[in-house]
Amino acid sequence: MSGEVNYSNIRYSNDCLKLINDTFQKFLDVDSFNYQIELKKSLEKIGLFFDVDRIYIYYFSKDPTFMKIECQWNKKDISPKREIYEEEVVYALPWLIREIKNNDFVAINNTKKFPDEAVFEAEAFLKEGIESSLIVPLKSENKLIGFVGYESLSKPITWEEDQISILRDISKAFSYTRVRIAREEAYESTLSGQAILLNNSESQIWALSNVTSYATVNEAHAKFFGKKKSDLEYQDLYDIFDIDTANKFSTNNWELFQKNELSERELQVKNWKGENRLLKIKSKPQRDERGNIKYLICTADDITEQRLAERLLSKAKEQAEAANIAKSQFLANMSHEIRTPMNGIFGFLELLQSTNLSLEQKEFIREAKSASEVLLHIINDILDFSKIEARKLTMENIAFSLRNTIEDAVSLLAPKAAEKGLELYTMIKEGVPEEVVGDPSRLKQILNNLISNAVKFTESGEIFVTVDCLKEENEIAVLSFEVKDTGIGIRSEHINTIFQYFSQADASTTRKYGGTGLGLAISNELVKMMGGKICVESILGEGSTFKFDVRLKIAKGVSQQKFAFEKFQDVNILIVDDNDNNRKIVSSYLQGVGLEVFEAKDAASAITTIISNANTKNKINVAIIDYQMQDMSGYELAATLKTIPFAKDTKLILLTSMNQKGDGKVAKEYGFSSYLGKPVRRQDLLGCIAIVLGLKKEDEEEHRLITKHMVKKVKNQLKPKILLVEDNEMNRKIVISILKCHDMTCDVAENGREALKAVSEKDYDVVFMDCQMPVMDGYECTSKIRLLEGDKKHTTIIAMTANAMKGDSQKCIAAGMDDYISKPINFDTMFKMIEENTKERGLVTDYNNIIDNNIDYLIESTGFERDDAKEILEEYIKCLPNLLEDIKQAIDNNDFNKLAGVTHELKGSSGSLRIISIYELAIKLEVAALKQETDECARLFAKIKDLLH
Ligand code: ADP
Repeated sequence: MSGEVNYSNIRYSNDCLKLINDTFQKFLDVDSFNYQIELKKSLEKIGLFFDVDRIYIYYFSKDPTFMKIECQWNKKDISPKREIYEEEVVYALPWLIREIKNNDFVAINNTKKFPDEAVFEAEAFLKEGIESSLIVPLKSENKLIGFVGYESLSKPITWEEDQISILRDISKAFSYTRVRIAREEAYESTLSGQAILLNNSESQIWALSNVTSYATVNEAHAKFFGKKKSDLEYQDLYDIFDIDTANKFSTNNWELFQKNELSERELQVKNWKGENRLLKIKSKPQRDERGNIKYLICTADDITEQRLAERLLSKAKEQAEAANIAKSQFLANMSHEIRTPMNGIFGFLELLQSTNLSLEQKEFIREAKSASEVLLHIINDILDFSKIEARKLTMENIAFSLRNTIEDAVSLLAPKAAEKGLELYTMIKEGVPEEVVGDPSRLKQILNNLISNAVKFTESGEIFVTVDCLKEENEIAVLSFEVKDTGIGIRSEHINTIFQYFSQADASTTRKYGGTGLGLAISNELVKMMGGKICVESILGEGSTFKFDVRLKIAKGVSQQKFAFEKFQDVNILIVDDNDNNRKIVSSYLQGVGLEVFEAKDAASAITTIISNANTKNKINVAIIDYQMQDMSGYELAATLKTIPFAKDTKLILLTSMNQKGDGKVAKEYGFSSYLGKPVRRQDLLGCIAIVLGLKKEDEEEHRLITKHMVKKVKNQLKPKILLVEDNEMNRKIVISILKCHDMTCDVAENGREALKAVSEKDYDVVFMDCQMPVMDGYECTSKIRLLEGDKKHTTIIAMTANAMKGDSQKCIAAGMDDYISKPINFDTMFKMIEENTKERGLVTDYNNIIDNNIDYLIESTGFERDDAKEILEEYIKCLPNLLEDIKQAIDNNDFNKLAGVTHELKGSSGSLRIISIYELAIKLEVAALKQETDECARLFAKIKDLLH
């Protein structure tokens, strides 16, 4: 190569060594700030020393397919390698890069001698006018990070081994320095990042090297004490703070060091202003390799304001709770206060009604009663609403008969439906459990609300109540209820709002019907509490169907049926009714108990069915006949059947609607064995069939089922022994007067103490007990009565409570009461309770033989008409059971005064009615009583009883 410079004479001269030394020396401590300047200076020195035209250093980018010039130098009059410093693609010179990667250096002495594959390199070198080039790879930890190029543009250079070796050594200084600077920069940026975090943190941070010495702190901690970081770092607490603060901290630190684990505590210290501040300190030990605590790292937040806010909040909560308790107490009181005068209104209206009044006055009273009922309903709704709002509404959990509850709810509204000419059906499907555990009164309330709405919003047609059991799971029954009507319906845009409080579908139409708009919202809440949902489907003008489901536990161990239905095997029943739904329901009640059911749509087909089956195994045993049918009334059909020889033994049961109820006597005359009012209860129906077939005795309970009115009559003859415990004079007056209207009396106690005395002296059938009374309240009195009675006796005690609040019923039951009746008293319920609890005292005897045996003599001796004589004897019979009971008790108690008195009464009435046999014995008994002859009294009484049987 012509004009090539030979460097072989250049040895490791002093100058050369100095150059290497200087370069390394410079780079040893150059910082990032001076790095570029020093690098450029070094490149110049090296360039001049080795007489090259330019030197450049490339480093690869993070993405190694790119590289960028870090620094370059060129001689005067020589153009720089690159005009601008920007990223270049590495593989623009593929051969060269490959060579650099694989070798310690690439020396290009003559650019015209590039190998064939270095096409791009040859072209590039030619274009740049490069004569010779030495390229040295730059490495860090054996990884190629860039390269340095030494170039000659003015003359060719033949690169000698020593020269290459020197330049390779010097190049190492570049890569080392580059790596060091990069590391230092990264470290600094980390440090400054941490410093930013530490010193700008709102939380205080510090490290302790021992109990009383700081290692380091952040700005926030220093600022808290009005100091600089440096005032605290590596200082002793006692040198920095006042003795009090230092003591507090050191005690705290001591405990934290002792704990030797992550911990959290609160410390009150004074800040720079002298204010007491509450710090929440979290501490964590930092350990050395041997596990000893090196530093205790603490962070703290000032929670003074937060704690204050918490205190205020908790105080506010306490106040709110107190207000809530006061509110519910107010509710309880209000409930009590409103119900007491309501009781007066109801009671006196009832009494007023039984006095001699003109028709107009009676009508006014009827209106006043109905307005009071509406008012009571509204009060109850508002109380429920307030209870729900105050989250005070709770559910009872008692076992109850589901069927009875449903049937009670339906029966309650049956008269209203009948009044409007609406058919009301109940269908309790097969599989619905008999007994469940839950809150029967709340379930009844939902049903009442839906059925009364259905009655209210329906002008004609029918209301269908269906109950089904959707599934049974883990002893929980999911029950679905449906109340379907053919009423005015609800517009689709109102469907979603009617379950909200105070919401009525259409103010203009519903105004006509009245109401508060609370019923459905309360029902919705109650259904939710029973684990279900309520919804409605409706078509305007066609009707609505409200559906809800509830989850109730199935009661265990309750006898589902008292009567053995096997006895119904081979019994054939005919249902005669022109109403398809009625037939369907009655037949569903009869199926599943072994009965064979036939149906007839009208009287004509009933007669055909009875006759055609007469001499077969399908002989109709019982025909259940509806009172009103299109072709013939129930009575006419019965009369007809009695004239047909084949039908004579078929027992007949009459089904009457609510408003035709009561004429049992007429029904009997037409040949019916029994009659039942609609909507009929399944249990009543089955019991009635069993009795008319003679499969079951008319025991006490069945009396109630089959001929309620008859039983009521008999029971009314037995004067119930009632004790009324009531401190309020008005309430006493009402109850006494109402009882009097029903020909009953009661003893009175004005407080618990008097009641206790009365109960210990006399056997009562039922005690009506007010709860809140002076001297001794109803709860205490009941507990004491129960103690007194022990296992020997159990007097029925019924609470009369004006508090309709949560827990009242439980409180009554817990005190030992048997049931409760809320004020204002529903007198029907009260009489039902009296009737159910009046003991028959073994004296229910058929005294009709007395009439038969004595009527003729009475007529003969007095000249009475037969009817009058019969009536008088009937009156006498009515009094007999009580008289006999009183005599028995007087004998048992050796109470001769009383015995003489009642016997005298018996003697008088028997004498007047010419019942000589009893009259004579009564005279003897009175004498024996006056002589106090116990045995003789007992003997005579037994004789009287014999006579009566
Ligand atoms: P209200 O005391 O007004 O009856 P509810 O909450 O029981 O209050 O009912 C809210 C509204 O829903 C009623 O005012 C009426 O507009 C509508 N609604 C409820 N039941 C029926 C129904 N069976 N047929 C038509 N509309 C009904």
